[in-house]
Parts: sequence; C-alpha cells; structure tokens
Amino acid sequence: MQTSDVVVVGAGLLGSAVAYGLARQGVSVTLLDEGDQVFRASRGNFGLVWVQGKGVGKPDYARWSRGSARLWPQLAAALLEDTGVDVCLQQRGGLHLCLTESEFLERQARLQELQDAVGADYPFEMLDLKAARTLLPALGPTVFGASYSPMDGHVNPLKLLGSLHQACRQRGVAIHTRQHVTTVAKQGSGFEVQAGTQRWQAGRVVLAAGLANRTLAPHIGLQVPVAPNRGEVLITERLPPVLSYPNNLIRQTDEGTIQVGDSMEEAGYDDNVSTPVLGNIAARAVRCMPALGELRLVRSWAALRVMTPDGFPVYQESDSLPGAFVITCHSGVTLAAQHALTLAPWLAGGDRPAGINGFGVNRFCSTRPTEGPLDAH
Ligand SMILES: Cc1cc2nc3c(=O)[nH]c(=O)nc-3n(C[C@H](O)[C@H](O)[C@H](O)COP(=O)(O)OP(=O)(O)OC[C@H]3O[C@@H](n4cnc5c(N)ncnc54)[C@H](O)[C@@H]3O)c2cc1C
Repeated sequence: MQTSDVVVVGAGLLGSAVAYGLARQGVSVTLLDEGDQVFRASRGNFGLVWVQGKGVGKPDYARWSRGSARLWPQLAAALLEDTGVDVCLQQRGGLHLCLTESEFLERQARLQELQDAVGADYPFEMLDLKAARTLLPALGPTVFGASYSPMDGHVNPLKLLGSLHQACRQRGVAIHTRQHVTTVAKQGSGFEVQAGTQRWQAGRVVLAAGLANRTLAPHIGLQVPVAPNRGEVLITERLPPVLSYPNNLIRQTDEGTIQVGDSMEEAGYDDNVSTPVLGNIAARAVRCMPALGELRLVRSWAALRVMTPDGFPVYQESDSLPGAFVITCHSGVTLAAQHALTLAPWLAGGDRPAGINGFGVNRFCSTRPTEGPLDAH
C-alpha cells in the first residue's frame, strides 16, 4: 500500500496541472493514469489560451478565463525553470474571424455584453477587413472582419503536457501509468483508490479523469454529467513564420505547421475523423486565407472534448465525503494556469478560490439537494 497526501486520478491537462500545483506547495502527490487506450482530449486539442467570447451568461467564467490568461506567463516561467522546456507561450493577442456582416454584428454584441459584465479589463476591438489585414495580411477578400483581443494567445499543448509531467516528477510526484482506476472509497480518515490489484491511500483524492469522471464521481457521492463532443483538426506542411496571430480557426504552431480547425460534433464516443467534416474545415479555412489552398496537408485527427451540459467547468468537493473532489472543464489549456496556481492550493486544504462558487455540480440537479446548501465549501 502506497500513501501520499493526495491521489490525483487522470494525468491529462487537468490532473497534471493540479498535481504540479500541489507538488509546488510541498504536498506529496500520487498521479494515476490509464494511458493510451482511453480518450484523452489533452493530446488532441488546438492549443489556444483564449479569453474573448467566453462566459456569456456566466461572468465568473469570463473572469476565471481572463485570470488564467494573466497567470499564464507565471506558469510558463515556472515550467521553464523546473524542466528547461519552453512551452512556446505567445500572448500578443488573437482574432475571431467573421465571414458575414451579421456574424460581425453578433460578435460585437457578444463581446460588448461580456465587457459590460466583467468591467473595463476586457479589451477588444472590432476590425474591418482592412484593419484585420494589418495583423493577418493573408486574409481573403470574402472575410467581412474580425474581433481582436490582446488577452488571447496560444501555446504548444503537447509540450505543455510533457513539461507538466516532467515537472511533476522533478518535484517528487509519483506517476503511475497504465492504471485503470475502478474504485475510490473512504478508508479511515482518508481514501483508498484501487486499480487492478494495486491500491493507494491518501488523505485527499481528486478525480480529473476527463470523460471517465462520469463513472468515477458516483464513488464520491457526486454526479458529473460530462459528455463527449468531437473536434477534428488538420495540419499542413511546415512553413517559415507567416502568421503572427492565432485566430479561432487557424494558427501557426511554433514548429511551423498550420493547424486548422476545429469542428464541434455530437458523435458519441467515436473519435475517428470523417472526410466530409475535414472537407468543410478545409474549405472554410481556404475561404478565410486562400493561400492555404496551396499547402500540403500532412495530418488530421479527431479528439473528444469533455463537455458539461452548460459548457462551464466543475470544481466540486463532495458533501458526503469531504476531501474528495472532482474537476473538469473544456478549456484545459487556457485554464492550466488557474488549475496549477489557484485551484491546487484549495485542493490541498486552503480556501476555496473566489469566483468559482458557480462551478459546483448542484447546478445540474433539477431539485436542490437536502443535505446542504449549493456550493457550500
Ligand atoms: C479538438 C479539441 C480542441 C481543443 N482546443 C482547445 C483549445 O484551443 N484551448 C483549450 O483551452 N482547450 C482546448 N480543448 C480542450 C482541452 O483539450 C481539454 O479541456 C483538456 O484536455 C481536458 O483535460 P482533462 O485532463 O480533463 O481530460 P483528458 O485529456 O481526457 O485526460 C483524462 C485522463 O484521465 C485518464 N483516465 C481516464 N479514465 C481513467 C481511469 N479510470 N483511471 C485512471 N485514469 C483514467 C486518461 O488516461 C486521461 O489521460 C480542446 C479539445 C479538443 C478535443
């Protein structure tokens, strides 16, 4: 039996970020992961650290995302110092492309609503095509315009995941892969986590198992109705630097490839690519930047987003089993800095961070639970 202060189940972007944050605080952590045979959004995403447009109807989410973007340089610097890995964070801003006037006006209204809700620290500009081309000269003549915000950026998401794992190891986190966790149970004053014949004990447990949180959360008395949403992505051959800013559809990676994406599809647990969807993604990208039509495509993939019914995160401690937590979100790249630097201290026993009270699971219940008030942590 191995013991630690905290067991984290799932070594995707969420589990790894909080494990790293916990270890930075001197907490002993065991990180368990099932491995390549299950769905892993953290290996198939678009790499944006994105704020603009997020949080309509939930200003706390807009603030949480904005706060993460602000903390990101600190996370990138800490990972560089601990591991020597540069995750290639670029935060000089990003654009959201609008193909028609009505899209443009809708976008403007959306961002204005968010700015009104969040306050002045939510900068954005609406750019007509001429102004947008000063940032992205490759834009085609049928683009109507774009919103630009200096809050946005991107990273290399695979370097991020790898460096989180490396930093965890360097700070003493015990990482066990190929461990399919089947049981989490109360044991004495803490918890016992079981995978096959292996068992681990800890004072606290954090479920960060992506889509598998749906089946694991009931072990700690919680229901987390996450569901898959498929995203397909295309990658071109490498080019010298040509795109200075990422946008919602197209970005140039630090390695020179152009990443084009991404669909949002209800396809159950099917994570195969489909030619018609990839065709639509390519056609839309070529309409936005005609020169992309000359490039060779070298790779495509699909991955499953981990979506809650309202699209906002879940950060919940169990009412019936205090010390057991479940966490999930669909913007694990953007929120990695909050997870490592703000959420981890709470998971270690500190105060619940301001601004996440609206991210409990009780919002999905049709009736209020009788055992306690909503989000009473
Ligand atoms: C196409 C696409 C584009 C995206 N683009 C962006 C973007 O631009 N910006 C952004 O911020 N986010 C983006 N995302 C979302 C982001 O990738 C996810 O929010 C993030 O990866 C979720 O991480 P996770 O750790 O919760 O889940 P996962 O990556 O799914 O990790 C869960 C982990 O749990 C493990 N596990 C599962 N079951 C068990 C078990 N029983 N026992 C032990 N381990 C288990 C798995 O092995 C896995 O490693 C995108 C996602 C997709 C699919």
